[in-house]
Amino acid sequence: CGIFAYLNYNVNRERRYILQVLFNGLRRLEYRGYDSAGISIDNSTSDPITCSCSSSSSSQPLLNSLPLSPPPLVFRQEGNIESLVKSVYQEVATIDLNLEESFSIHAGIAHTRWATHGEPAPRNSHPQTSGAGNEFLVVHNGVVTNYEVLKETLVRHGFTFESETDTEVIPKLAKFVFDKANEGEGAQPVTFSQVVLEVMRHLEGAYALIFKSRHYPNELIACKRGSPLLLGVKELNEDINSGSAFHDAKFLSMDGHSKELFLSSDANAIVEHTKRVLVIEDGEVVHLKDGSVSILKFDNDKGRHSGAHSRPSS
Ligand code: GLU
Repeated sequence: CGIFAYLNYNVNRERRYILQVLFNGLRRLEYRGYDSAGISIDNSTSDPITCSCSSSSSSQPLLNSLPLSPPPLVFRQEGNIESLVKSVYQEVATIDLNLEESFSIHAGIAHTRWATHGEPAPRNSHPQTSGAGNEFLVVHNGVVTNYEVLKETLVRHGFTFESETDTEVIPKLAKFVFDKANEGEGAQPVTFSQVVLEVMRHLEGAYALIFKSRHYPNELIACKRGSPLLLGVKELNEDINSGSAFHDAKFLSMDGHSKELFLSSDANAIVEHTKRVLVIEDGEVVHLKDGSVSILKFDNDKGRHSGAHSRPSS
């Protein structure tokens, strides 16, 4: 099983190219074992929908004035990567999705699954979602050991579950946290990393996770505890033979430059793009936004985060 993400910032990439990068990433992770696979990419970026939810609706409080990007597309398939690839192209043709559409910023996520909870089936494949509208999407490598109690709580709060996975509690918890934070008069907007840090506070077990959200278009969050996770940073026009593995977070200063960012369970899905690879440590939360990378530290013992940190050079 493995997770993979590709974010192009200030670099024009056609949807067809983005799909190819995601599929190739998955092919490199296939050796880790799989029984199913899935991806999420953006629908058209034009005409962001302004959410028309009524302010009296308690499930969608105070979001009515915020522009909401269209729901990301999710494709999931049982079997190997090639059956996913085949089904994605079939589906793309059916819904008439333009493969030549170009994105100067786009965040795509991908997963190969080795089922621990729930049989191999499209509904149990990842990305798992927060529900209709795909507000939060998660790919997960590992096992959430306390998922049953989290699921009970979320069901009590009105969530319905579609899969038998342990993973599904994660995007639903993210939506719960997001909605709670937006409740009430004068609620301050929460950042994507604040949502994820709060979600992590409730998770037990092992995980490497990548979050994508319709509320935070073109951003990705990744975090880990126990399962492997790496970050690759490719500056535009970088020579593949230049650069070397990062041992510190010095590159975090390269804000705003055109670049391509990769997250993966294994370096072998990144090194064909760049050799600038950083191994993410347990308890770190990686936030990719506006062409910059910030790494927050989740303080498990105290259940809080200590803000952005840079690792000392080694
Ligand atoms: N526990 C999750 C599931 O069964 C993730 C398994 C994996 O790491 O692929 O869906």
